[in-house]
Formats: sequence, structure tokens, C-alpha cells
Amino acid sequence: MFKKGLLFLLTSIFAITLLSACGNTKDESTEAEAESSDDKVQVVTTYSIVYDIVKNVGGDLVDIHSLAPIGSNPHEYDPLPDDVQKTTDADAVFYNGLNLEAGNSWFNKLMETAGKSGDDAPVFRMSEDVEPMYLTTEGNEGEEDPHAWLDVENGIKYAKNARDGLIKVDPDNEDVYKKNTEEYIEKLQKLHEEAVAAFNEIPEKERVLVTSEGAFKYFSKAYGFQAEYIWEINQENQGTPDQITRIVDIINEKQIKGLFLETSIDPRSMEAVSAETGVDIMGKVFTDSLGKPGEDGDTYIDMMKWNMNTIKEGLTK
Ligand SMILES: [Zn+2]
Repeated sequence: MFKKGLLFLLTSIFAITLLSACGNTKDESTEAEAESSDDKVQVVTTYSIVYDIVKNVGGDLVDIHSLAPIGSNPHEYDPLPDDVQKTTDADAVFYNGLNLEAGNSWFNKLMETAGKSGDDAPVFRMSEDVEPMYLTTEGNEGEEDPHAWLDVENGIKYAKNARDGLIKVDPDNEDVYKKNTEEYIEKLQKLHEEAVAAFNEIPEKERVLVTSEGAFKYFSKAYGFQAEYIWEINQENQGTPDQITRIVDIINEKQIKGLFLETSIDPRSMEAVSAETGVDIMGKVFTDSLGKPGEDGDTYIDMMKWNMNTIKEGLTK
């Protein structure tokens, strides 16, 4: 059996070599590639966290192109020509919503350019069914806060919306998407319970989380924290002298023991706050992006686990 397989392989290699000698390989292989990628559902996601959740639900049935690169801030993004092409060709687009992909209206503009702005376009909002929380700083009052995924129970809603979107564009594989989602949700449910248990070990009045961006509203509500920040949402005017003075006062007043720095944010403002207050930065946390593949926090589950451990260690030292 093995020998037969090997013989086949050798014959195939020989055949390919022959073809390339005739100068035909290029066309043949391009056709083969097109065929194999046509089998998969072509998906575009706006950033790495949505990418990972859709990947868990879609498994091998999907081929995903993610827009805002890992480590960057998805509030703002300038789509490249390749992004426009892939979005135009996509069978489905998944985005966060809740005011995340709103900087310079980049997402809406991209959907228009890619012909996906109609009511029946296959564009799916992961945060559908999430109860929105709102910004409170002057000028932003009443705007939705996008960071719902930092509460794992919302992550479960994201997974269900990914499932429903994929079933809509690829109903033949409904059973596979349902099974993948069930397995994934089981893991997320376990992670949520672990997080509740871990954070309950921190005395309640010490559960204050200071970060650069106020990304932890949903997280704080779910896990019993107070969230403090230098600025409320990533946009213009980050880390102004007024914002720094405000947070320095809060840190002194509440006798905060540790600060945290997001991986997708310029560290200079938090470093200034640390220098001004003498309170240490206890570690990095993931908010708007996963870690790089192969590094810490490179999946949604790993980034949430990383945050859980870092925050717990940092506040109980
Ligand atoms: Zn953010």
C-alpha cells in the first residue's frame, strides 16, 4: 500500500516536472489553486479577535482575510487595495460593530467600495444581542463602547453570531458550524467561570483596573472591577496633560497599587503616569488585538487567560 502510494507520488512529481518543461504549470496550478480556495467560504474579518472567533466556528471550511493587522488599533484603519479586492470577493464579512470600526468611517466606506453596503449584503455584526454600554466623557456621551468581547459571556454571543452568519452563506455545512460552535462555547463557558473564581480572590476594593484606554467597561461589569483610564476611547487627543492630571489624582486618591498597559497602545502616556505617581506598571494586557501567532495571547481564549493571570498577579502582589 505504502509502495503504491510512493509510486503514485513519484509519478505525480514526474508528471508535474514534465508539464513545467512544456511551460504549462502556471496555468494548471493557478486553476488548481482557484478550485481549492473556491471550495472554502471566503471570509473577511475586521481585526484579529473577530478573526479568531470566526476561525473557531468555521474551522477548515473557511478561508479568512483579517483587515487591521495584529498589534494595531482597529478603531482606525486604512484598507489596502488587496483588502478592497478581498472584501469585494468575500462570501461573508464579520465585524464588531458598537462603534469600533468607526474611525474616519473606514468600515462603512470599505463596505460601500466593495459593494457590500446593501441591506441584504452578507455582512454580520458579532456584537448583535450584546447589551451596549455607553461612553461618558464630554463630547462622546451616549456613544456605544465597543469592547464587549472583554466579557467572555459576550464572546459566547460573538461565537453564536459567527455561526449564524456562516450558516446563512453556507447552509450545506450547518451541522459542522453548529458542532464547532458547541465545542467552542463549552471552552468559553469554562474560561468565564475560571475568571469569575480567580477575580473573586482579589479583595473587592482592590479590584480597580487602570489602563490607557477605558476598554474595560464590559469586563468590569462582568468581573466586579472598577475601571479607570487615561482616555476613554482610542481616537484623537490621547494622553493630553489634562487627562494625565485627572488619572494621577484618581490613582493617588484611591491608593492604586498597579497600572496596566495595553499591547496595542503607545506606552508613553502610561509610563508618564507611572513616573508621576510612583506606581508600577504591572504588566501588559490585551484589549483590541491578539498577540502575534506563536506568542502569548495569540487566540481569544489565550488573551483572556493572559489578562486574567496578569491582572490577578498584579493586584495581589
Ligand atoms: Zn479600543
